[in-house]
Amino acid sequence: MTNIQEWLNRHLLELNLTEEMDYENGFTRLSYTKEEKQAHQAFRRIAESLELDVHTDQAGNIWADWRAASDAPVVALGSHVDTVSSGGGYDGVAGVLTALAAIKLLKDEHYAPQKNISVVCFASEESARFGVSTIGSKAVSGLLDKDDVADVEDAEGVTIKEAVESFGLYWDTIDQAEKGEKELESFLELHIEQGTQIENNGADIGIVRGVACPIRLQITAEGMSNHTGTTPMHRRSDAFAAIAPLITFVEEQANQMNEEQDVPLVATVSTVHLHPNVMNVIPGQVELGIDIRSVDDSLKRELAERIESFCKKIEDKRKIQVHVHTLVNNNSVFLDPNLQGKLAQVADQLDFNYLEMDSGAGHDVMNMAEKWPSGLLFIPCEEGLSHHPKEYASVEDLAKGTKVMAEYLKIETGELP
Ligand SMILES: [Zn+2]
Repeated sequence: MTNIQEWLNRHLLELNLTEEMDYENGFTRLSYTKEEKQAHQAFRRIAESLELDVHTDQAGNIWADWRAASDAPVVALGSHVDTVSSGGGYDGVAGVLTALAAIKLLKDEHYAPQKNISVVCFASEESARFGVSTIGSKAVSGLLDKDDVADVEDAEGVTIKEAVESFGLYWDTIDQAEKGEKELESFLELHIEQGTQIENNGADIGIVRGVACPIRLQITAEGMSNHTGTTPMHRRSDAFAAIAPLITFVEEQANQMNEEQDVPLVATVSTVHLHPNVMNVIPGQVELGIDIRSVDDSLKRELAERIESFCKKIEDKRKIQVHVHTLVNNNSVFLDPNLQGKLAQVADQLDFNYLEMDSGAGHDVMNMAEKWPSGLLFIPCEEGLSHHPKEYASVEDLAKGTKVMAEYLKIETGELP
């Protein structure tokens, strides 16, 4: 094992607060909990051992700075260390670990950057606790709507505001974590792929062009509840039976759209709520959630429109009413082509095969990209498995990611503009 692989293994354990990665129940470090804080402290220790200047901002993000010159631009790298419940030890951790490891490589080589380098460990990336994702990076990019999320509760009734304050921060000042456009020059995140495209294409790494953000629809079908034993079939308005064809319609339409054009689109029907959900009452009301994703926003809108007109048809044909409510409609995020070019150049230089691809999942980088030229680098993870205890990325792949980041930093910080 090479030195850097040994370093990666050791600090992978440290960031995961563990002595072995192979845990049946995985890792649970929910947003703004003491477990997330402990992982932040581990990040701080490692950063300090690399002689970086470490500070926490008003949103709980930790910044580890390698200062070259106080007035030089800042090139940032980073990801997160919080997890879902019983998640893996690589989602997020891989990004902060390899960023720190890249600094270690450069320092070992006595490299002298002409610009400042910051590694950021973002707070509260996962939506597992509150249903709100990327709180830390939203605050940094100025995208956090404080009033909108303050009173959102977790399963125990604790609000985001309360969780943030018990983390040792002040809700009133959380938005002061925002950085001005001039404070950073660029941002790069490394993340595990959470899919199998890199492997399927025989590549070593993925260079991401865009992040597909969802349209989410909530469908409510209103029929009439009644006794299942005494209501004859011809006198029913069963909301569940009436809306059921919509589920297969969404799948069929998504398949058809993928056959018709090159940019992939995915659509999923889930979160079914039946009222009442009992065996002797005809379902009077049904709620369904539909998640539609593609980097081509016009395709998402097209499918959403087809869904709406299908719902109208159901309404006309059956004795029910169907409401379509748009919960989320976020445009896809495009990453910086110039930064992608630098990553491709580095991959060629290191003789790594790279795949240009899109990301179906959201990451901190999508907020950063709203304000700064940003990039996303994927390394493979075994069988694409993520948000699962068996999530795994090999130390060889972590080391490849580290090398790409180190060489990228040389291009990015080698000379002043
Ligand atoms: Zn992640």
